[in-house]
Amino acid sequence: MKRDQAYYDEIKQKFADERDLRLNYRPEGTAQFTSDFTGELKKYSVDAYAQTYVERAPITDSVEVLFIGGGFSALLTSARLRERGVESIRIVERGADVGGTWYWNRYPGIACDVVAYDYLPLLDELDYVPKNHYAKGEEIFAHCKAIAKKYDLYDLAVFQTTVISTRWLEGEQSWQIITDRGDCMKARFVICANGTLSKPKLAKIEGIESFQGQSFHTSQWDYDFTGDDLSKLADKTVGIIGTGATAVQAVPGLAEASKELFVFQRTPSSIDIREDWPTDPNWARKLQPGWQAKRRKRAILGPELTDEQIAKRAAMPQEEKIRRQENGNIDYMMRIHRRIDSIVKNNETAEALKPWYMFMCKRPCFHNDYLPSFNRPNVHLINTHGKGICEINAKGPTFDGRQFELDLLIFATGFEVQKTGIYNTIEGVDGLDLNEKYSTGMRTLLGIHSAGYPNLFIMGGHQASFQFNLTYMLQTQGDHIAECIAYAIKNNHRTIEPTEDAEEWWVQQVIANRGKTSRSEDCTPGYYNSEGENKRRQDGNYNGGFDRYFHHMADIRSAMEKNFVLS
Ligand code: NDP
Repeated sequence: MKRDQAYYDEIKQKFADERDLRLNYRPEGTAQFTSDFTGELKKYSVDAYAQTYVERAPITDSVEVLFIGGGFSALLTSARLRERGVESIRIVERGADVGGTWYWNRYPGIACDVVAYDYLPLLDELDYVPKNHYAKGEEIFAHCKAIAKKYDLYDLAVFQTTVISTRWLEGEQSWQIITDRGDCMKARFVICANGTLSKPKLAKIEGIESFQGQSFHTSQWDYDFTGDDLSKLADKTVGIIGTGATAVQAVPGLAEASKELFVFQRTPSSIDIREDWPTDPNWARKLQPGWQAKRRKRAILGPELTDEQIAKRAAMPQEEKIRRQENGNIDYMMRIHRRIDSIVKNNETAEALKPWYMFMCKRPCFHNDYLPSFNRPNVHLINTHGKGICEINAKGPTFDGRQFELDLLIFATGFEVQKTGIYNTIEGVDGLDLNEKYSTGMRTLLGIHSAGYPNLFIMGGHQASFQFNLTYMLQTQGDHIAECIAYAIKNNHRTIEPTEDAEEWWVQQVIANRGKTSRSEDCTPGYYNSEGENKRRQDGNYNGGFDRYFHHMADIRSAMEKNFVLS
């Protein structure tokens, strides 16, 4: 149906009102959360999955390449380093195994929203075809371990260990890595592979520590308490705070298993259809070597436009382009609303589940069982109308004068975003702390290299490109890093570090591509826009497109001597 502009303007106004409501409740931005799990919050720092704590003597040796973090960043880069003949590779990891996100996140229902044939990396190399169109967490975690085995990464790996200091030793031209277990290791090359969303966070809620029932963050699921199949929840009243991508996957299982389930919602997610199916064995059998690389490449290419279409687009004023794009976005969100109406039987609940913001303001979700969960008599949506839960006491959360008495309270409140060197201080040449360098604005080349930090590489950080299929992005960065390290080794350069000019060029690229609309500020707060905080234009992702980012990398490497100081 064709709508007039007034229809779209009215919805845009409602989006703005909702954003303001949320911002007024939490003007403190990212400070509304804490990741400091010490003191009374110490129980939220446990590793719920490690069978034992392995005692060992402190390590004081030296390796060629050391990864801080053992998730996909480390695994994918290591694979490429091995292919280039690098032997001495160590992963230092907080968890008791490799896997990163997929080690920590084992909540019921966990799966990935990116099609498995694109998301699971190194499928050719491991001669593996995923079991289903979308992979479950368990399969992805197993794949991580298979990569580590194939590339012999367990030999030197150190688990249950947190890097707390990474310091450049000018005299030795290498890095010193200190850990919370008293290790003092050295490495010629260090790769910050600590992930984009790896440090769990809790909302700062008054009285949070006083709750007397069982509670945990979704990344520390206590299966002893819930039972592996959640059957121990049959006589329990359960609450879950948060309705982001994690909760959307966890709620259906909890809804089925719990006696009563209370879902405490501040802002609803947008939930679209997600159809899954087993991999067709006939299709899998016919796959030719190199199939995944070809598939991934195809996925990032936009639709091919005719010359006429290109000319028409170029002639269109910028304002008109934005207007059309926004109206299309609103049409999509209204389809999401209609889907809710068609599934959720109670009108008040259906209204409460409707997201009032542009598509992609928050991480879009895809699930077929989340919305129907709210038709169950034992499931209760507690709509906090943008305010969120602000108080918890010994019995459970309270809201609007109502007490929710719970046996189990689950925090699905997310993770800190993209900090380089979480848990860890990084000191480069002249002892300059990386955060100190960034305090006047981030400065990197490709989001990977930073001047003053020789032989240090950063993965999945700011100033890199965004790609919904994160493993593709990480593989691209890993390929680049492996090439740089191999180049330095082959040409007998002890160090590799970007020139100030190359770094400045990239900072300007990031700024120039930050976008011409105020879309991010117009969005309802969330981790995508730093909870509404104002940010410098350079302190974010490179938005020039993944394909261009990929080509910039290749161009940088084709002129190594110009872009890097090699000594
Ligand atoms: P999010 O940061 O996306 O969600 C946190 C949730 O907690 C939000 O709903 C937030 O509400 C809510 N919240 C915070 N404080 C309060 C409060 N005081 N009262 C009530 N609610 C509150 O974390 P997730 O763990 O859900 O997801 C993190 C990311 O991990 C995803 O965005 C995605 O990138 C990835 N992921 C991917 C999956 C997939 O592939 N399907 C599955 C799971 C995670 P509000 O929105 O108002 O801030």
